Amino acid sequence: MEIIDTHAHLGPSPTGVGTETSEQEVLEAMDAHGVAVSLVMPQSLQSDERAAHDRVHAFAQANPGRIYGMASISPLWDDTAYFAEARRCVRDLGFKALKLHPGSYNTSPLLPRAEKCFRAAAELGVPLIVHTGAGAPPSLPALVIPRAREFPEATIVLAHAGYAIYCEEALVAAETCPNIVLEPSWCQYYNARRFTRSIGADRMVMGSDHPANLPVELAKWRATGLSEADLAKCLGATARRVFKLD
Ligand SMILES: [Zn+2]
Repeated sequence: MEIIDTHAHLGPSPTGVGTETSEQEVLEAMDAHGVAVSLVMPQSLQSDERAAHDRVHAFAQANPGRIYGMASISPLWDDTAYFAEARRCVRDLGFKALKLHPGSYNTSPLLPRAEKCFRAAAELGVPLIVHTGAGAPPSLPALVIPRAREFPEATIVLAHAGYAIYCEEALVAAETCPNIVLEPSWCQYYNARRFTRSIGADRMVMGSDHPANLPVELAKWRATGLSEADLAKCLGATARRVFKLD
């Protein structure tokens, strides 16, 4: 089965998690664990987010069909600057998603300044990945529900699906909104199993967040006891459809 990692990062982590990920580390982890494709974005709070996107683009250019870019743009930027960078990343650089990190930017999805992130995803036809869990209350999964209803044409991926502690809430959000997809990195194996049995493998994707966490996530998915057909969707096929990977 094809394995797609929908949540990889490149470069430094200014949030203080203590990681800096190189291109080589991403590729080595993919090779070691049989991952065919990774979707890569900068960590949040880059001092120069445009330059960080350019680095991701160069990485994708050097690894066609294997690495795809995603844009992480500060929701603190005004509408004009935000949309200019979102359009550049998706239309010019071929990026496959936008990312909103409510915790890093202290931007609950309910705040007026978060609206443009959902609007941009809808306009550009790419999923919006919303970090959930750590960083609550702005990162509470349920806060995405009103925006998912406001933009039913947008696909919203809840990264970390509540981060274990708010898993039940992420499931409520996904059960409430058919345009929400769950990516359960850092959750427990039984959370991933429960999500898949509840909302279906067509709305589940795999993410690692860190190269060193990739084998952990893959082992977790194997431990769910899901059927091979469901695993094939959760680990790759659903991501290929949701992120429109050609
Ligand atoms: Zn992440």
